[in-house]
Amino acid sequence: MTDISSPKTHQNFIGGKWQDSVSGQTYPVANPAHTSQVVGHFQSSLPQDAENAVHAAHSASKEWANMPAPQRGAILYKALDIMERRAQEMAESITIEEGKPIADAMGEVKRAMNIIEYAAGEGRRLFGYTTPSELPDTIAYTMKRPIGVVALITPWNFPLAIPAWKLAPCLISGNTVIYKPASATPLSAVKLVEIFEEAGLPAGVLNLVTGPGGSVGNTLIEDPRVGGISFTGSTEIGTAITARASELLKKVQCEMGGKNAAIILNDADLDKAVPGVVGGAFGSTGQRCTATSRAIVEEGIYDDFMSSLVEQTAALTIGDGMNESKDLAPLSSKNQLDTVLEYIGIGTEEGARLTFGGHQLQDGEFADGYYVEPTIFEDVKTDMRIAQEEIFGPVLSVFRASDLEDAIRINNAVEFGLSSSVYTRDLVQAHEYINTAHTGMVHVNAPTLGGEVHLPFGGLGASGTGQREQGTEGFEFFSETVTVYIDHSAGAKERSRFI
Ligand code: NAP
Repeated sequence: MTDISSPKTHQNFIGGKWQDSVSGQTYPVANPAHTSQVVGHFQSSLPQDAENAVHAAHSASKEWANMPAPQRGAILYKALDIMERRAQEMAESITIEEGKPIADAMGEVKRAMNIIEYAAGEGRRLFGYTTPSELPDTIAYTMKRPIGVVALITPWNFPLAIPAWKLAPCLISGNTVIYKPASATPLSAVKLVEIFEEAGLPAGVLNLVTGPGGSVGNTLIEDPRVGGISFTGSTEIGTAITARASELLKKVQCEMGGKNAAIILNDADLDKAVPGVVGGAFGSTGQRCTATSRAIVEEGIYDDFMSSLVEQTAALTIGDGMNESKDLAPLSSKNQLDTVLEYIGIGTEEGARLTFGGHQLQDGEFADGYYVEPTIFEDVKTDMRIAQEEIFGPVLSVFRASDLEDAIRINNAVEFGLSSSVYTRDLVQAHEYINTAHTGMVHVNAPTLGGEVHLPFGGLGASGTGQREQGTEGFEFFSETVTVYIDHSAGAKERSRFI
């Protein structure tokens, strides 16, 4: 159980030691369901802390890279066991600092466990390949080497799963790490690091520095000892990081925002489509990068879809995420609440029709939290801001489409390209959609949400740059490929004149 009756002060973890920031300052994090309840105090770190962490990671780098990958895997398996033991506590930490319903938080813990298990096994499979050389008596093959020191910078909306799906492949590939979690959700980060410490990770291999992205995060990007940056967060910050890391010739991957759509065609099974859209739009209070932010509905099924959508949305229960009977929880911060309310205002001003919700909830049990109703707009046009910009809250925009081609046109009329889905019983239409939807992940007869850890996760356009996370691609990012030629002939020989 996570006890917050007397909130603790949590430290940074640098070089295998829990320690205060050189600033001597901490900041509080509050529960979004009860804003007067402090979850913990965390270090307000300075660039010097980030530099100290880079020094520790750099010093530990050689020994960790030289440890055989199956032995690194054994440490990950231990971490998996510890996380399983602490699963309930981890889920509660997520809910009290981020707000999401406890069932979603437990799903997130399971997701983190899945990736640790997958990466641990990969310690016996970090394959290169051999191929015949064009020269006699020559062996040619490729091998994987770690990047060295890697910075992981993560968002608040999946405070455990996203760090885990970066950390596990990063560690198994032989890199040492500086982990900078979102300032809003450092409790899950502290607990994740505790788990790896208990699992026996050598000092300096994993370092945690909490504090502002603009200074701590930026120091990590600029430090020449950091060879790789794996970032998940907003498109604005990710674009700036991609540009700067490219100038510095560092390896970089950025997973960013989304504006995901579900297409509902005339032949869709509404028993699947409506719950899929309701769960996609309002599950985790719409604060998922893969949340369904748009529904694109073909004319012939529009009225039936809408009446069922409104009925099922009205049945959703709202409240503290720790209460297992609640479907929607608070938004995770005042900033999130203000942004979502602002977009609801923008949608109304732009001429979209507010069909359901649209209000902040402030009475009774909602008085001390960041609650907003699930909200549905109709008559949305593709050039409206609510159709184009990521809202990142429980707001669904509904479009009418004349046919599949029109639906795909609307789907692709945004700069983002993370995830999308289509509901149809027609294989021809399903494949037409699969081949033309401008998103990195496509779903048929399933919500826009989620993914499995052994398959790549990521988006196109403004949703992502660099190599995909998870799946085999996830390991590619965290290693360098080295090509080896060995001449084992007895004497000198004629070499190729080509480079
Ligand atoms: P954010 O504001 O971009 O922050 C992400 C991380 O970057 C935080 O740790 C932040 O630190 C840090 N940061 C901020 N400014 C920085 C800078 N100048 N240099 C280096 N680091 C910096 O994003 P967020 O609000 O936490 O997360 C929500 C966004 O993440 C949404 O757009 C969502 O779609 C996206 N997301 C994408 C995926 C995906 O896989 N595609 C998954 C989940 C979320 P502070 O917290 O201290 O500011």
